[in-house]
Amino acid sequence: MKHYIIPVFIPHYGCTHACVFCNQRKITGRMSPVSAQEVTGIINEHIGRITETRHIEVAFYGGSFTALDIKVQSELLAPAYSALQSSKINAIRISTRPDCINDTIVQNLIAFGVTTIELGVQSLDNKVLEASARGHSATDVDQAVHTIKKMGLRCGIQLMPGLPEEDWVSMIITARGVIRLAPDFVRIYPTIVIAHTKLAEMYYDGSYTALNISAGITRAAFFKIMFAQHNILVIRTGLQATEDLDSSDVVLAGPYHPAFGEMVDSYLFYLMLVHCVESLRLGESSSILIHHHSRDTSKLRGMSNSNIKKLRSIYNISNLTLKADGQKLDELMIEYQSICYIINKKMLFHI
Ligand code: SF4
Repeated sequence: MKHYIIPVFIPHYGCTHACVFCNQRKITGRMSPVSAQEVTGIINEHIGRITETRHIEVAFYGGSFTALDIKVQSELLAPAYSALQSSKINAIRISTRPDCINDTIVQNLIAFGVTTIELGVQSLDNKVLEASARGHSATDVDQAVHTIKKMGLRCGIQLMPGLPEEDWVSMIITARGVIRLAPDFVRIYPTIVIAHTKLAEMYYDGSYTALNISAGITRAAFFKIMFAQHNILVIRTGLQATEDLDSSDVVLAGPYHPAFGEMVDSYLFYLMLVHCVESLRLGESSSILIHHHSRDTSKLRGMSNSNIKKLRSIYNISNLTLKADGQKLDELMIEYQSICYIINKKMLFHI
């Protein structure tokens, strides 16, 4: 059954921190705190719009939900819980900081029907967490994930490649740490520079260099390959486009693009193509046939056919044919003379 998320944004509400990259009011498009009455209104409004049978989930996004006083958490959860009990919705999730999780907090969330907690982890390299003024360490993440899992809830992790002081060693530390923690899912949100944040000041004074689109794609692709190899689901890559984010005076720099996720997948297909072609040792003016799933055609081609054009020009392929004929999703079979080569992203590289 298809999912339907009812988002309830809680910008900066309860958060006592000032992470360098954060201006939640701009990210969520919301400038004021939310009340229990508003939560009821938001839920009813969405339910009124749903015409097909869906798995409906209320998601408290945007802030540090469990940094709120526990009484306030209960007040905000109560309307969602009541909708859950009367079967108007099917699930409730919240997102929060790793250092705002303990047994009492999780027990209270469970009492109000919460089944999924997403942690804003961002990185597992302490040097990066410190430079980003996150106010928690990688150890806090370990403890939070263990508490959530021990109490039987689903645990998601959000990562932000491109934070200050991050290098490829940080990326490897983070990838390995996430694999060890084995969350139920991951979201990848490359760091962008938002106006009126500390990161914007650092960007202007030259102490921070933002990733460009291609570097953002490479880092996100690295995480996707690593997590695919360990069967960790990546449910989103790149921030959801909003009117605010699309306005040029909000996003100052960084790898923001409304189709970022698609661009990362296209890059992964390009890597797969190159891997096959290199292994096949093509002769002069070769001819190859690429079998794939029909839903992968646009990712395989890349934006404006860029993957195919690049491959043709670099490897002198005179005849390259794409055939959408029932290959598995995210997998390619390349036919060249009498050789067939099958590849998926799990086979790309290991660390
Ligand atoms: S903890 Fe979350 S809401 Fe608070 S400043 Fe950091 S990113 Fe923003």
